[in-house]
Amino acid sequence: MAEDVRVRYAPSPTGLQHIGGIRTALFNYFFAKSRGGAFVLRIEDTDQARFDAASLQDIYDTFDWLGVSADEGPRQGGAFAPYVQSERRDLYLEHAGKLVDSGHAYYDYSSKRSDHEEGKPYRYEGRHMSQADIDAAQAAGVEPVVRLLVPTEGSTEFEDLVLGRIRRKNKDVPPDPVLLKSDGLPTYHLANVVDDHHMGITHVLRAQEWVPSTPIHLLLYRAFGWEPPRFCHLPMVMGKDGQKLSKRHGSTSVVDFRAAGYLPEALLNYVSLLGWSYDDSREFFTLYELERLFDTAKLNKAPAVFDYKKLDWFNGQYIRELDDNTLLELLIPYLAEAGRLSDPPSESERAFVMRFLPIVKERLRVLSDVVPLTAFLYDDVDAWTGEDLIPKKTTPAEAHAYLSAAREVIAARGAGDESALDEAFHALAERLGTKLGNVMMPLRVAVTGSRVSPPLIPSIRLLGIDVALRRIDGALTQLEPTEDQS
Ligand code: GLU
Repeated sequence: MAEDVRVRYAPSPTGLQHIGGIRTALFNYFFAKSRGGAFVLRIEDTDQARFDAASLQDIYDTFDWLGVSADEGPRQGGAFAPYVQSERRDLYLEHAGKLVDSGHAYYDYSSKRSDHEEGKPYRYEGRHMSQADIDAAQAAGVEPVVRLLVPTEGSTEFEDLVLGRIRRKNKDVPPDPVLLKSDGLPTYHLANVVDDHHMGITHVLRAQEWVPSTPIHLLLYRAFGWEPPRFCHLPMVMGKDGQKLSKRHGSTSVVDFRAAGYLPEALLNYVSLLGWSYDDSREFFTLYELERLFDTAKLNKAPAVFDYKKLDWFNGQYIRELDDNTLLELLIPYLAEAGRLSDPPSESERAFVMRFLPIVKERLRVLSDVVPLTAFLYDDVDAWTGEDLIPKKTTPAEAHAYLSAAREVIAARGAGDESALDEAFHALAERLGTKLGNVMMPLRVAVTGSRVSPPLIPSIRLLGIDVALRRIDGALTQLEPTEDQS
């Protein structure tokens, strides 16, 4: 009989959702779907000091934006509600009590490490406190913590779906972690294990940084007499320098990617390849496909590298797949934000965007690129300086000669026939004895104000030949020798 898979994503609302987090969420989701199981969202908000309401909202917004929804969770409800840990306190309290009663945990009134012999793991004084000391602490109003009694003998092992067999000597497990804090709230270890058990979680897919905690969790399962779930620790996500991905490498928050204009389909597709692959070649997957094709057997052990350039490339591919009307709607907010459109945009403003859309579509890596890429269509170009107009290894006088020759071609032919113009520019470069790029670059900068622009001839056509010629004339003036240069 097929097993009923139940997995969970269990974020703590203490910061914005980032790449590593959504990778965990998505892999759990894909796994659940591919196995016909259930995907549970559980909010682990027991650290009240670090709780942040905006981070909680960000979890929901991120799911909505990615187009992924949980089968059970705070918003959906479900048979194991509530799905927010702060609403389940009594359960943890009760279970901490059970462990004390069965001798697997103890009240610690001092929280001091006890003196320990060389070569032996340290323990806490509370483990050996005399009744008299306990009475005195209670009389003084000290609230104890509850600590797990970690055995000093033996070992704890488990079979990780990715990493294989992992074995820790119990004496190397961090001794006696706190399960219940003095304010009666559970720590991560207790709440996580109690909930995974009570919510019927069969597989725990989570980041590799949790591997050191797993022996503690297994000791808890054993102490409760529960069957542990299967563990699957996902490969680390690194920057290109081999260090753990962090803000030093660039944005990692989903909100930042979203604001820059990454499409959810592209981010989701790229993130699905961080530590997983379908085969050696295929890279493009829709959400629908990932829900069917994902398989933990294809997870890698080796760390994954987050490559911002590759993500940009992916995003560009996805943008080019969009139909123009969809892209128009997606670009409007960026153009409005830059003050280029009224709110709501008028019909003529929309029509103008539709006119330039085909040429910028080819160049967009992210949606927000539309703002710098089309600045030359909205604002007069006065940004260029002489230097930008001068190709490498050429002089201002040469640049001037190239640009004025290019001007003649455009003035004579207009920008209507693109292939004829192309040919004319090639011929021109040959006649001037220089590379085509040396002719085109000053022209591009003169007309668009930038070395990076949409395709040049269509840009000139959109701008109108008169405006383009005026800009070229302005640029030529810049390139004329000044007194001190002559
Ligand atoms: N609340 C933990 C976190 O923020 C969950 C870790 C786990 O999946 O066990 O990542």
